[in-house]
Amino acid sequence: MRMVSSSSAPGAYAYPLLIKQLLLRAMAVSGAQEIVSGPDFRMTYARFGERLGRLANALASRGVREGMRVGVMDWDTHRYLECFFAVPMMGAALHTINVRLSPAQVLYTINHGKPDIILVHRDFMPLIEEIRPGFERDVIIVPIGDGEGYETLIDAAAPGFDFPDFDENRMATLFYTTGTTGAPKGVSYSHRQLVLHTLGLVAGFGAESGDAGVNRNDVYMPLTPLFHVHGWGFPYAATMLGVRQVYPGRYAPDAILRLIAREGVTFSHCVPTILATLLDHPDCARTDLSRWKVIIGGSALPRGLQDRADAAGISLCAAYGMSETCPFLSVADLNGGTPDSRAHSGYPGPLVDMRVVTPDMRDAPRDGETTGEVAVRAPWLAQGYLDDDEASGALWKGGYLHTGDVGYLRADGSLQITDRLKDVIKTGGEWISSLSLETIVSTCPGVEEVAAIGRPDEKWGERPVLVVRCTEGADPDHVREAALSQIRAKVAVGELSKWAIPDAVLFREALPRTSVGKLDKKALRQILLDDADGTS
Ligand code: AMP
Repeated sequence: MRMVSSSSAPGAYAYPLLIKQLLLRAMAVSGAQEIVSGPDFRMTYARFGERLGRLANALASRGVREGMRVGVMDWDTHRYLECFFAVPMMGAALHTINVRLSPAQVLYTINHGKPDIILVHRDFMPLIEEIRPGFERDVIIVPIGDGEGYETLIDAAAPGFDFPDFDENRMATLFYTTGTTGAPKGVSYSHRQLVLHTLGLVAGFGAESGDAGVNRNDVYMPLTPLFHVHGWGFPYAATMLGVRQVYPGRYAPDAILRLIAREGVTFSHCVPTILATLLDHPDCARTDLSRWKVIIGGSALPRGLQDRADAAGISLCAAYGMSETCPFLSVADLNGGTPDSRAHSGYPGPLVDMRVVTPDMRDAPRDGETTGEVAVRAPWLAQGYLDDDEASGALWKGGYLHTGDVGYLRADGSLQITDRLKDVIKTGGEWISSLSLETIVSTCPGVEEVAAIGRPDEKWGERPVLVVRCTEGADPDHVREAALSQIRAKVAVGELSKWAIPDAVLFREALPRTSVGKLDKKALRQILLDDADGTS
């Protein structure tokens, strides 16, 4: 629906904010720029533009119309990027299916999200065959082989497609939260929200000092799965700017490092685990990473990992957000060198109204220490969960989106996340930040990875316990001693309460992960409960 003000000239174009307009600059100025995908595929932006028309015609010939939903199950490829644009530009919604959920959860998201058609890479066909008997409605499955089927589809289709104008509030994308608490929940974004998010992202990152922003000299490669919050929205931003892009396909550390070197990648984003996996790979030492800037988000960056990345010459930024916030909320350049600039959840992006509130929605003082729940408004926040009024109401209680994260604001307006509400360790009357314990212990020699969790305790409610994965060859007794003495030292200088000293330091060979590679504390708590004596 067009809103035309009384002063609009006859014929004035009301310019709905549509995803197709993100392409205007790229097509005008970057026609010869390249988009690379995996080891063998490359195309120019001009060709990319033409292929979007072909993809739309191919989908239309299979019955896709405005208002329908198109699912995708693929690795991070140029095909996915093409779907990011062509599907919403047709007026359909793109359902990015999280292929790393359990089969039962994938089935749930398909039945709940109701895609009319799903493009499926060969690697996910066995999964589709397994869950297909549970489909609650007809879904057209389009196998795209190892990509060659997709190429046939593109080649056989006519090139031109007249992408229409429509209401900017139409649903453009749909995906599901990663489901660490209960069933995955559907989150959707409109064209208007995605366009504003893209502009907000570029403006917010560009406003940071140092290397945070993207510019025309950058070479971009996503390392957050494209099914997860549209790869944090960066593929839209990189395409709008017309920069050179590199898609890694299935994540394999050696292939990613090769692509970074061969294509001169300068800009990526990922959760800490992916960065750790790359730094752990033997090829890493042979790869020049000194031009690479990496946005870390999705979890706090452990200090030990930050030190390793610094040593490799990587330039780091921290960003904070969540599935329900499209996701961008805040960003910080971590290269300032001062203690404060090293542990930071960022400055709010443009148009972001960020508060830290008490349970009755009063603002906590911006004093750099009083914590509360982070509550936000921005033009790109999910307006609720798909078909779930109760959860939607809780998300937006009091007119602000409740992030479920605990943190504080500093006087300069920057945010520090101290924990997730459900991960805070509540011992006696004290709230202990699991993140602060992890940050301290992550720098101890012999610690590869650490999680601090609350173990149920009859007297205190919960007591802190550390679960550590050691580096190869490390002696657990030494690691335990080092971890506890670091924590005691912080208690001695008053930086931690004495209740933060863990009751136990346990060791595991692997820590459970969510479908997007984050530490899964809910699963870890369950493992420790199942293994009640907790020793290893
Ligand atoms: P998801 O919706 O799966 O992307 O997870 C979002 C959650 O990840 C947030 O609610 C935070 O708990 C956590 N998170 C994201 N970014 C950061 C960050 N920079 N520091 C600490 N936690 C973060």
